Amino acid sequence: MKMIRFPDGIEVPALGQGTWMMAERADRRAEEIAALRAGIALGMTLVDTAEMYANGACERLVGEAIAEVRDQVFLVSKAYPHNASRERLPRACDASLARLRTDRVDLYLLHWRGSVPFAETVEAMERLVDAGKILRWGVSNLGIDAMAELFAAGGGACATDQILYNLTRRGPEYDLLPWLADHGLPTMAYSPVEQGRLPHERALADVAFDLGATPAQLALAWLLARDGVMVIPKAGSSAHVQENRAAADLILAPETMARLDLAFPRPTEPVPLEML
Ligand code: NAP
Repeated sequence: MKMIRFPDGIEVPALGQGTWMMAERADRRAEEIAALRAGIALGMTLVDTAEMYANGACERLVGEAIAEVRDQVFLVSKAYPHNASRERLPRACDASLARLRTDRVDLYLLHWRGSVPFAETVEAMERLVDAGKILRWGVSNLGIDAMAELFAAGGGACATDQILYNLTRRGPEYDLLPWLADHGLPTMAYSPVEQGRLPHERALADVAFDLGATPAQLALAWLLARDGVMVIPKAGSSAHVQENRAAADLILAPETMARLDLAFPRPTEPVPLEML
């Protein structure tokens, strides 16, 4: 499995697992836990969740799924913007840790920008690092101007920006990805199969067919071919997990990349960062 390096030197697998929309249905819970465990066993040990997902129930599901293998997992969670203040962030973090049944998260993200000034959020994040409750922190859904503001506000220790990035959302390639790379930050690509819609794109399916891969695998392999990009598909079944894991072994030839560029063109001008 390809590894991605954070600024502090820690390396994590480029292919991880998302969890949004898990823990929404009691009848799917066992299958979702089994899927996460199967992914971890296959090396997809980066697990992304958030306090927002299923109102905390998703973190509880993740906590149950990883309880026996916590030390193998690189655990990511996110705080609501309204919790990103000096006063509220420690409480939000403690609540997440309790639901996740752990004493630390490996990476704690500001889910999106709210009204709390960056300088205050940075200070609150750094205090959590000092307390050992989070091992590093980062952000999500910040475009290039907001990233520059964050750094100007003392946020140079930010470890990543988790953003919407896939074949149909290539805007970040124009300026944000280069900015992050210039600052030594890896990128975390969310909704890599566009929440299940991308595998139905005819152009993608045609290229995938010629490679003997599935469309979802090709969409993931395309992201995994990028430098410094982690990819966190959400899969609620072990079958999808296995299919996605195999994407990490696909090597795409230049001709394949060119066909994908034709079908899903690169941006030719700045595109405001999109979010889901
Ligand atoms: P996604 O991973 O692009 O798509 C998930 C959907 O694709 C699910 O319906 C899943 O179905 C389906 N799927 C998975 N593997 C498949 C395969 N091999 N073939 C066909 N369909 C497949 O979308 P996402 O969940 O929005 O994004 C991934 C993760 O990123 C989230 O779970 C979350 O952790 C994170 N995220 C973060 C933000 C943010 O604001 N920071 C926003 C969105 C997402 P099954 O469940 O049936 O397998």
